[in-house]
Amino acid sequence: MSSTPVIELREVSRRYDDGPPALHHASLTVRPGEAVAILGPSGSGKSTLLNLIAGLDRPDEGTVTVDGVRVDGLGEAGAARFRRAKVGMVFQFFHLLDDLTVADNVALPAQLAGTPRAAAHRRAAELLEDLGIDRYSGAYPGTLSGGQRQRVAVARALMNRPPLLLADEPTGALDSVSGEEVSRLLRELHAEGQTVVLVTHDLALARSCTDRTVELVDGRIASDTAATGAGPLSRSAR
Ligand code: ADP
Repeated sequence: MSSTPVIELREVSRRYDDGPPALHHASLTVRPGEAVAILGPSGSGKSTLLNLIAGLDRPDEGTVTVDGVRVDGLGEAGAARFRRAKVGMVFQFFHLLDDLTVADNVALPAQLAGTPRAAAHRRAAELLEDLGIDRYSGAYPGTLSGGQRQRVAVARALMNRPPLLLADEPTGALDSVSGEEVSRLLRELHAEGQTVVLVTHDLALARSCTDRTVELVDGRIASDTAATGAGPLSRSAR
């Protein structure tokens, strides 16, 4: 029995103005429970790919389907709704709201999706406990360390139980100890069945928390490899 892919990119191309294609006929399938690292040098198309998956940008050609939703055709409001329901995002610089408490930051995505405040805060409390940061729930993000802030950002990303967790250089702004904590957290989430896509140029991070590596070079998927050394995986939609 085959399950619906969490991500299905078919022959996706994106070109900005007069430059070379930022993505060129990229096809990629990510199945539920996979943890995939997108690697590649600066300018290879990683952010472009991430933005297309998150519905923050539209391809010039090809289709982007996430958990059964055709993302490439969504308007702005539809894309915002899609993101709230389907994608949790974690960024290098956390993007927490400094004038809200930790609990309010984490509960916010559920409240934006229409969950009543009390229920949203119950779930936020559970998540903060699961991630070992419940003692900070009344604190403001500015008083926390980078590693603690990133845990809060991960809790917020998981708030609406998204089928997909997208992490963009989540340890890029952290010292090595905090980076290792966040890396361990991603590993644990993957072990619990969360589908994770991690964009990074940190090979060690990719190896430690994903089981598949997709390498972009000049906007093309140059390799797609299982981390076990089992060899290249088949790419879909050739
Ligand atoms: P990466 O995330 O791997 O560094 P990007 O996806 O940001 O790569 O960029 C891929 C290519 O697209 C680069 O050549 C970059 O200069 C170009 N590019 C990215 N965003 C824009 C934009 N908004 N306008 C014009 N060119 C862009």
